[in-house]
Amino acid sequence: MLNQIISATLPFVPKYIVGKVSSRYIAGTSLDDSIKVSQNLNNSGSLVTLDLLGEDITSEAEAIENKNEYEKVLTSIAHNRLNANLSLKLTQLGLKINYKFCVKNLTSIIKLATRYNNFVRIDMEDHTCTDETLEMYSELYKNYKNVGVVIQAYLKRSENDIKLLSKNKANIRLCKGIYKEPDSIAFQDAEEVRENYKLLLKKIFENKSYIGIATHDDNLINDALNYISTKKKNISEYEFQMLLGVRAEKRKSIISDGHPLRVYTPYGKDWYAYSIRRLKENPQMAFYIAKAFFGLEK
Ligand SMILES: Cc1cc2nc3c(=O)[nH]c(=O)nc-3n(C[C@H](O)[C@H](O)[C@H](O)COP(=O)(O)OP(=O)(O)OC[C@H]3O[C@@H](n4cnc5c(N)ncnc54)[C@H](O)[C@@H]3O)c2cc1C
Repeated sequence: MLNQIISATLPFVPKYIVGKVSSRYIAGTSLDDSIKVSQNLNNSGSLVTLDLLGEDITSEAEAIENKNEYEKVLTSIAHNRLNANLSLKLTQLGLKINYKFCVKNLTSIIKLATRYNNFVRIDMEDHTCTDETLEMYSELYKNYKNVGVVIQAYLKRSENDIKLLSKNKANIRLCKGIYKEPDSIAFQDAEEVRENYKLLLKKIFENKSYIGIATHDDNLINDALNYISTKKKNISEYEFQMLLGVRAEKRKSIISDGHPLRVYTPYGKDWYAYSIRRLKENPQMAFYIAKAFFGLEK
């Protein structure tokens, strides 16, 4: 209840408080920060996916800046011999400005990733981007196999999208979905989202697509582990994925049981929108915000 009240008032919480309580979710503001965090994660047995924060840009110049930064990230991953790939949002590369312009930027990044033998995951944003994101993914996949996409279990269309993606051996991250969507297109009930996640997980495995099982929910993790063990799935067919700053202990136990696990590691100056989304999902958000307000240690 208190969490719901704080959630509604988050836009009025001073930015420095939001920054303080959400620092656990962000690797830092610079590429160097993210490389250091990635090195530590690799050393502790986690794979990494690096994400440059920022979305919904409004000028071509910003999109080009983001493209250039992503290319720097790829070079830095190679030079530092990190076990890391990229996650990016199409609105960062100009999706809302011009589709073709966005394809050009994404292609440039994927070409460089190909040279480095690396991989690019296209994050899924809100429903206004779903069609174009899937379309761009499929277009790019014709020429590049080192690109993957995301399916959101809360969307009612997802089962059909998986069917369409199964024509190619797609590489799919499966998550619940983070944006507020209308009930005409998205399940609103947490249990319905879970049930759909379980169904989609099995469909993706059955289609022989590679799956990134992106969740911190014990119920879904256990369901996936069960399926993997009964169907004797090989580690070349899946990986678990978690967000930086969330459930580090669970992460360790999944890794120590021999499963691959990748940590989504965001960095950059535009940390605010991402931080707000993460805080809203933190069951202890009210507690942390109250502590930060009163100047107590985190
Ligand atoms: C690697 C990765 C990539 C993602 N990519 C996308 C994407 O491209 N598009 C998209 O729409 N969504 C994406 N998401 C977000 C996802 O859709 C969910 O919003 C998010 O993962 C929370 O769902 P959950 O399955 O962890 O379940 P929840 O029920 O939200 O969480 C389960 C438990 O995990 C813990 N927990 C979860 N979040 C937090 C938090 N922020 N702070 C502290 N504890 C927490 C709590 O103990 C909670 O009870 C991604 C998630 C991950 C892990």
